This record gives sequence, C-alpha cells and structure tokens, in this order.
Amino acid sequence: MNRNKTKNFYYGDVGIGDQFPVTVQSMTNTDTRDIKKTIEQIKSLEAVGCDIIRLAVPDMEAALALKEIKAEVNIPIIADIHFDYRLALESIESGVDGLRINPGNIGNIERVRQIVEKCKEKDIPIRIGVNSGSIKKEFLEKYGGVNVNSMVESAMEHVRILEDMDFKKIVLSVKSTDIDMTLKSYEKLSEIIDYPLHIGITESGSIWKGTIKSSIGIGALLARGIGDTIRVSLTGDPIEEVKVGKQILRALGLLNDKIEVISCPTCGRTRIDLEGIVRKVEEKIDSMSKPIKVAIMGCEVNGPGEAKEADIGIAGGNGIGLIFKKGKIIKKVKEEELIDELVKEINKL
Ligand code: SF4
Repeated sequence: MNRNKTKNFYYGDVGIGDQFPVTVQSMTNTDTRDIKKTIEQIKSLEAVGCDIIRLAVPDMEAALALKEIKAEVNIPIIADIHFDYRLALESIESGVDGLRINPGNIGNIERVRQIVEKCKEKDIPIRIGVNSGSIKKEFLEKYGGVNVNSMVESAMEHVRILEDMDFKKIVLSVKSTDIDMTLKSYEKLSEIIDYPLHIGITESGSIWKGTIKSSIGIGALLARGIGDTIRVSLTGDPIEEVKVGKQILRALGLLNDKIEVISCPTCGRTRIDLEGIVRKVEEKIDSMSKPIKVAIMGCEVNGPGEAKEADIGIAGGNGIGLIFKKGKIIKKVKEEELIDELVKEINKL
C-alpha cells in the first residue's frame, strides 16, 4: 500500500513518518498520579503491541509522576497537556518522548517559545491535535461552523506558530466524530503539509460501535496513503483500542506479525463446529509469525476450491475433515484430529 510522503523523526526509539511502519497508539485511562496503576496499564498495553502511549497531565503532580513512569516502561510516552505551559515544561523535564499540546491555546507567545526551545533541546516532537469540538470561535465564524475549512485552518494556525519558531518536528491530527469530515480534513491537510499525521475518529463510541466507526474512518485514510500513526478511540479498556488498531493494520496488509486466518461464514452445508475450530486454531497459532494464509472452511464441497489462494487449509465434512494446500487435498483426517493435524502442517511450512 502506498503511503504519502511525510517527514521522518522519532518518538524515543519509535520512528514516525513514511519511512517507518504505521504505529498504533493509545491513551491510559488511569489517574496519571497513580504511578503504580499507570505503569501496570502501560505494561499490559505493551503486551498487546501498543507502540506509543499518551498520558493526560492535568496537574503538576502528574507531570512529576511521569519521571517514575517513564523509568519503568518500554514504549515512548507522550504527555497530553491543555493550556498550561508549566505542565509541558515539567513533563519534558520528566523525560517524555513527545508532547500533545496546541500552541495557539497557551495564550502567550513567550510561553510557547519556552516549550519549543525545550523540545528542541531534548529533540522531541509536538503533536497538534485539532478536534471538531475545540475549533476557535474566530474560525467557526469565518467558515460558518465546524467543517473541513475551519478544522484545517485551525490546525494550520497552530502549525504556523511552531514554524515561526523554526520548529519542524510536528505531528498533526484533525479528528471529528463525523467520518466524512475527518476524511476530507485529512485529505486537505495532506495536500498542504508533509508533517506526519496522527489519524483517528474522535469519540467514536462503545467498543462494538466504535470499532466499526474507527475501522471505516482509519481504514479509508490508510487506504488512501494518509496516516503515519493511528489511535482508535473507544469508550472502554484501552487494550481494546490497541487490539483493534493492530487488526486494522493487519487487514490492510500494513502489519504482518501474525498468520492470516480466513474462514467461511458457514451455511446449511456445514456439519462441524466451525466457529469453535476457528477460535481454537487462532489460539494455537497466535504467537506464530509466518507470511502465510490459513483457510478454515465449513465443507468439503466448496471449501478447498473457494480457498485455493490459501497456503494451507481445512474443510469440514461429516465427522471427518480434509487438509488442503493451495486448493489440493493432501490428507483426510478424523474431525477430532483436524486442528492438531493442521497445526502440524503449519509448523512444516
Ligand atoms: Fe457453506 Fe461450504 Fe461455503 Fe462454508 S465453504 S460457506 S460451508 S459452501
């Protein structure tokens, strides 16, 4: 999949930009001042593949807590700050790898300059995050409400403040709860700047609905080559955000860390517990990383033929099952041996 050209730099040791893989980030929902709980949550997010983590910094105690948290975790930390430049400065002192702050909201250019100078000194990026709910009144009036123009113009105002201070390690996001507006805003933005883009659909909802909405929005952008890092926003455990984010990348072929499993939807011809088989096979091969496709099909009539592009697969029968490679049957086995036989064959590949 082609990616739009963007500038390349780092959050800690994780690269961002078109020369690096698209990363998945999330945000802790623990109280940042609760150091133990926050570290625990970050470690569990690391375990499911979170690449970068963002933490809310509501006060000085949280900014100071970042130092201890940073020392215990392995992935880059971004401090999320609203308005207060002192929290930004203290967070940088605590060793964070990036900031999320909108310079136009700080209110005093000298304070912005202090943040920028410190970011330059520590070589850390700043993400400007414009949301549909936080556009300045001036732009809402100028462009007639929340729309693509007011979103993009709002982002560009923040960008110009940083560029005027000769700061170029900028990451941008222009998120809306509306998919169409989000797509058009990112498209417009990517035509006028080449800074890496953090993409997502904001406030996308509960785990089930938000997963669908985020997958459509983020997927559509990535398919157009737009996006260098993603965040799936879900009302729920951030672990789900990371799992969904990773799966979006896998579905688009942007991440190949696991074996791809395809399976049929089942129909009146199915005589085996295909759902259970799929679940068990996925569990057994979850830790394997091979560039192969495994098919799990419900019947021997259509299964091997329908899945002939798969490297290996099984098709259920009545008490028996077939194992096939590239659509050609290689073995007939008892139903209860099907999973183990399949895993054996996968191991041989
Ligand atoms: Fe039905 Fe067989 Fe197709 Fe599965 S592979 S949907 S069981 S026809």
